Amino acid sequence: MSLLRTEGLDLRFGGVVALDDVSISIDEGEIVGLLGPNGAGKSTLFNVLSGLLAPASGSVLLSERDISRALPYERALAGLGRTFQHIKLFPGHTVEENLLIAQHRHLRSSVLAAMLRLPSWRRDEAEARDRVDAVLELIDLERYRHHRPGELSYGTLRFVELAVVLSLQPRVLLLDEPASGIAQREAEALGPLLREIRDVLGCAIFLIEHDMPLLLSVSERVYALDFGKVIAHGTPEEVTADDHVLSSYLGRTRRTDVAAN
Ligand code: ADP
Ligand code: MG
Repeated sequence: MSLLRTEGLDLRFGGVVALDDVSISIDEGEIVGLLGPNGAGKSTLFNVLSGLLAPASGSVLLSERDISRALPYERALAGLGRTFQHIKLFPGHTVEENLLIAQHRHLRSSVLAAMLRLPSWRRDEAEARDRVDAVLELIDLERYRHHRPGELSYGTLRFVELAVVLSLQPRVLLLDEPASGIAQREAEALGPLLREIRDVLGCAIFLIEHDMPLLLSVSERVYALDFGKVIAHGTPEEVTADDHVLSSYLGRTRRTDVAAN
């Protein structure tokens, strides 16, 4: 049974066909890459998966449950975790506090229980703190625990943002170009980190990444999009050897760059 699946998604922006009959499927615990040239429809697909855009037709299923009409926060509660290009953190709060706030907004044990400090609230609170500790350790952010966002570099903030999403215990993590704008050293650490996240937390990862060696080395399966259409899917080796993919996309980079990986 697939964890996350789409059936025949179509979406247009005026005359632009952003998604054309897109059917993809991701299994539990799998790392799947999505590649394609600029404007291929990759971010649009993520926006449809997370509920920010409604497709003209087609459906999104999570554990075979149709979530096509669910709101973004409902999808997040159901286990769809997503990072955004624009980082939304509370500037007046530390990294640790930001992770706790995100969980409270997400899990929200009753406000009354919190006000009265009932046992159920204290248990939730203790579990939330344990999750924060585990995620900060996993993402190697412990040394920034008490820093405020304004004191951190852009690259570190992107890892904090990832930590926020992970602390919400997603079943599938959608990552749109996590290596963009971060330092080379951080980008190189991303591949092993994504595998560790999957191994430790057990979540599936659906990854859009411009950094082709990174995408191909970390993904177990890859989908290639062009003009909103899935033109190939399979193992990284199969997809990079596909004629459509080579002419639509990889042909624009040097073949050796890809083969070198
Ligand atoms: P990718 O992420 O693969 O680079 P996008 O999904 O962002 O591509 O875009 C797919 C196509 O849809 C592009 O032609 C883009 O210009 C267009 N597009 C994306 N978002 C919008 C929007 N909000 N309004 C109009 N056109 C859009
Ligand atoms: Mg994009």
